[in-house]
Amino acid sequence: MPLTEVLPMSSLATAPLIEARDVRKTYRKASVALNVLRGVDLCVYEGEMISIVGQSGSGKSTLLHLLGTLDAPDEGQILYRGQRVDNAPRSARDRLRNAELGMIFQAYHLLPELTALENVLAPAMVRHGVFAYWSRRQALRARATELLERVGLGSRMLHKPRELSGGEMQRTAIARALMNEPRLLLADEPTGNLDRSTGEGVIELLRGLNLDDGLTVVMVTHDAAIAAAADRQVTLVEGRVETTGTPDRRRQA
Ligand code: ADP
Ligand code: MG
Repeated sequence: MPLTEVLPMSSLATAPLIEARDVRKTYRKASVALNVLRGVDLCVYEGEMISIVGQSGSGKSTLLHLLGTLDAPDEGQILYRGQRVDNAPRSARDRLRNAELGMIFQAYHLLPELTALENVLAPAMVRHGVFAYWSRRQALRARATELLERVGLGSRMLHKPRELSGGEMQRTAIARALMNEPRLLLADEPTGNLDRSTGEGVIELLRGLNLDDGLTVVMVTHDAAIAAAADRQVTLVEGRVETTGTPDRRRQA
């Protein structure tokens, strides 16, 4: 394991936010067993932006889903702030996802019948429940509006997804992912459906959230140029983490 995976680079370094320890995952279909992850170790420090790269089918989405507790490893552990979460009760995993994690996807996954503003508000309703949400609706609406302005969609709040461009849909999804003030953003091919310059705009936005707001970002991509925007790159090859690139730029200073 490279030293950077074990030791923070300087006294400025922060604590591990999320870790995978010897994580293994096999998919079984009929009599075929596919060993997708074969012992992945990964430690993401608070405040980092890292990219996970690898060929299509190398297990990037699988790893991201395990980090996000959407699925559980067959063996190994996922730890969030040093606490094991892969085998935590469902209520604890739901709380983690609702309060600490934000996720975005290649296909945006916006709710088509809701406006951009309503999409951004949806996680608050899920987190607080309808009654608590209703009593706080003005403050929550103000926050959702502010987030949409932050991602450059102040003039698109009442548009439905079909009335938005791809880049605008992904920005809406980012605002939605930020609604519950997560510490960690998991992004699965966030630029996969976007043209180069629109994709770069989305990555710049994520970088800004990382540098200005301290949001930790784990981004999956198969695009080397997009991956290079991160502090560190992790490559999945044959079910293992093969290389880690340069450590956090801010820590090298
Ligand atoms: P990547 O995101 O790197 O393209 P994935 O993690 O999506 O890779 O998938 C890795 C491999 O596991 C692929 O070969 C895929 O077909 C397979 N796979 C993914 N999810 C499932 C599943 N739920 N059941 C069976 N096979 C799966
Ligand atoms: Mg994938």
